[in-house]
Amino acid sequence: MKTFKLTALSFLMVVLTSCKISVKTLPEKTTVNSAQELHNISLNGKVFSAVWQQNAGEFRALCYQAYNLAQIRIDENLKIASTKPLAIITDIDETFLDNSPYAVTEAELGKDYDAKTWMNWTAKGEAKAYPGSLNFFNYAASKKVPVFYISNRDENDRIGTLKNLKDLGFPNADNEHLLLKSTTSDKEARRSEVLKNYNVIIYMGDNLADFSKMFNKKSQAERNELVDENYSEFGKRFIMLPNSGYGDWESALNGYNHQLTPAEKDQVFLKNLRGY
Ligand SMILES: [Mg+2]
Repeated sequence: MKTFKLTALSFLMVVLTSCKISVKTLPEKTTVNSAQELHNISLNGKVFSAVWQQNAGEFRALCYQAYNLAQIRIDENLKIASTKPLAIITDIDETFLDNSPYAVTEAELGKDYDAKTWMNWTAKGEAKAYPGSLNFFNYAASKKVPVFYISNRDENDRIGTLKNLKDLGFPNADNEHLLLKSTTSDKEARRSEVLKNYNVIIYMGDNLADFSKMFNKKSQAERNELVDENYSEFGKRFIMLPNSGYGDWESALNGYNHQLTPAEKDQVFLKNLRGY
């Protein structure tokens, strides 16, 4: 019994110490305007998504599932003759870099994405990799299949992004293979550049627009119809990674209006919810 008490006490102390450390590392909630904001669906949604992304075994399993499938597709394609060298195109954020710490810190401040604070985060180059991603991309490299990183991070993020990729050990972490946003978030022109010289066998992303321009700026209903029409591409040419925290699905619901306040977004979300 004494051993149990001591063990329980030690456990409690560890928990309290952990709590103290974790609370200390969070920024002060200086910009939360009202209690209402703390109960805001969009901001709390970011936090809930981050809790899942950072803790759920199910999240990890989905990542492994996607990367295992992608590896199967590489092996299949290596057996088929190609006139051009093979390549992979991948998105970065929430496709293999985990930015949930950024979402948590922003939500703690009562804020959603903001270009300036986003740059502060990317400049650190400290995002962790999605489970299975590093092994997969290095497997591709071992088979002489290069990866092109097509991301809507912009040029201000280049140094931090390359540092992040290099520190984690991702292949092709150089300027030639990192195609960032310059004038448009539409990735089609950058995909076309790669396609001039390569046979792109897999597209990887967490957002439909990472795969094809057909998904760009479509309404929520159109996006879902297109996904249904193209269902056979998913798990084949298109490999989708999990991201419930943000994406064009959210923008589509909001009519691609990026000026909405969190409270206004809530109204849209509530209109698009089904109960029973
Ligand atoms: Mg992404």
